[in-house]
Amino acid sequence: MEYDTITAISTPMGEGAIAIVRISGDEAITIAEKIYRGPKAKSLIKADSHTIHYGHLADPKTGETIEEVMVSIMKGPKTFTREDVVEINCHGGMVSVNRVLQLILAQGARLAEPGEFTKRAFLNGRIDLSQAEAVMDLIRAKTDRAMNVALGQMEGRLSKLIGTLRQEILETLAQVEVNIDYPEYDDVEEMTHRLFMEKARYVQQEIEKLLQTSQQGKILREGLSTVIIGRPNVGKSSLLNSLVHENKAIVTDIPGTTRDVIEEYVNVRGVPLRLVDTAGIRETEDIVERIGVERSRAVLKEADLILLVLNYSDDLTPEDENLYQAVMGMDVIVIVNKTDLPGKIDIERVKRLSESHRVVTTSLLEDQGVDELEEAIADLFFQGNLEAGDMTYVSNSRHIALLGQALQAVEDAITAIEAGTPVDLVQIDFTRAWELLGEITGDSVHESLIDQLFSQFCLGK
Ligand code: GDP
Ligand code: ZN
Repeated sequence: MEYDTITAISTPMGEGAIAIVRISGDEAITIAEKIYRGPKAKSLIKADSHTIHYGHLADPKTGETIEEVMVSIMKGPKTFTREDVVEINCHGGMVSVNRVLQLILAQGARLAEPGEFTKRAFLNGRIDLSQAEAVMDLIRAKTDRAMNVALGQMEGRLSKLIGTLRQEILETLAQVEVNIDYPEYDDVEEMTHRLFMEKARYVQQEIEKLLQTSQQGKILREGLSTVIIGRPNVGKSSLLNSLVHENKAIVTDIPGTTRDVIEEYVNVRGVPLRLVDTAGIRETEDIVERIGVERSRAVLKEADLILLVLNYSDDLTPEDENLYQAVMGMDVIVIVNKTDLPGKIDIERVKRLSESHRVVTTSLLEDQGVDELEEAIADLFFQGNLEAGDMTYVSNSRHIALLGQALQAVEDAITAIEAGTPVDLVQIDFTRAWELLGEITGDSVHESLIDQLFSQFCLGK
């Protein structure tokens, strides 16, 4: 396939000592040649693939030297996009990087849309859709574990599993065709039903296994939206600070993805907590009083995890009980703070109110109990089995939805077989499952969906 030549700055905007401007397409090297001034009139066009060249960039119109650079030449198809790719390393300042970009644009390259490099890799058959989506996840990963999941998916682990399942379904469908066209036995119908049933059960089991990883996968990918609540002065801000200080998340600054809500990520034993900072949510000292139990429940419902803080050196109050009520049925960890002070709280009553919630005691002032709290968080969401590093997690909502639909199709097939439905109807269910699975890897998707998916990327990826 042939596309025009695109370019973009592919390192984060702003600080950074070095920035990379990337060009991809048939004209990539010719364009670089026009602006490159190397030692001894070196030619980039004649350069070997995958080589790096020192030199300067100059405006061919004015002859003015613009930047000192290192230019990497990579000829297709052994590149990320499978096209000719040039990467220009230059000094990181906004002004100088932009001048380089403008210079390249002036030679006829087009400014890439967000995600367009990855989209080319997909369109040129270098990666499938789930791998392309993994690139996006990788850019956004907040913890090393989330990164590993994305890496695994980018290497095609999920694609391989899905491919195997699709192959299995396809072979079954082919086998059934053969059985019908060349019946070897009298009981073809029964044989076929038996074959279908066996395969349907197998596929069902495999999809269910994948879906079982999805809750954890989603948490790894999107973070656990976490709200700290408690009466004034119990230690909410102290808790937030101690979580933030001890657990820096990997990335917080993603170019091109400005959001309305400022979110802070902390990495608690591999669990990314997303501390949501919309007005009134992070510090909900008086949320129940202000808007009532019912409304506050609705607000808090968006959260995956509630950290409810109580004061050890104080009696339980009706306010505390309101908070308990507001978070009933949610994932809650109760933190009894200020254990360095004389105890006044009725701990038995705390336990009764807390029901199945884990209760942790802390003295944030003396840095006591934070380890136990972190352990409780990791336990709650991963039951301690997050270590399985080679597991394939399904983490993307689109994939989860498609797997769910494929599972439904397979279960429809099973129901149909059990009811003795004619084979051609069972075939339809099987075919649907095959198609739905194909949408995950992009083997059967709409162009509009592809555009939509890639538009979520950052510029320059
Ligand atoms: P918030 O109003 O719930 O956010 O509570 P803060 O985190 O602002 O804390 C209120 C006060 O309690 C501050 O003066 C903290 O230093 C203090 N504090 C927080 N945790 C502890 C603790 O474990 N022990 C003691 N003695 N004081 C604490
Ligand atoms: Zn506070």
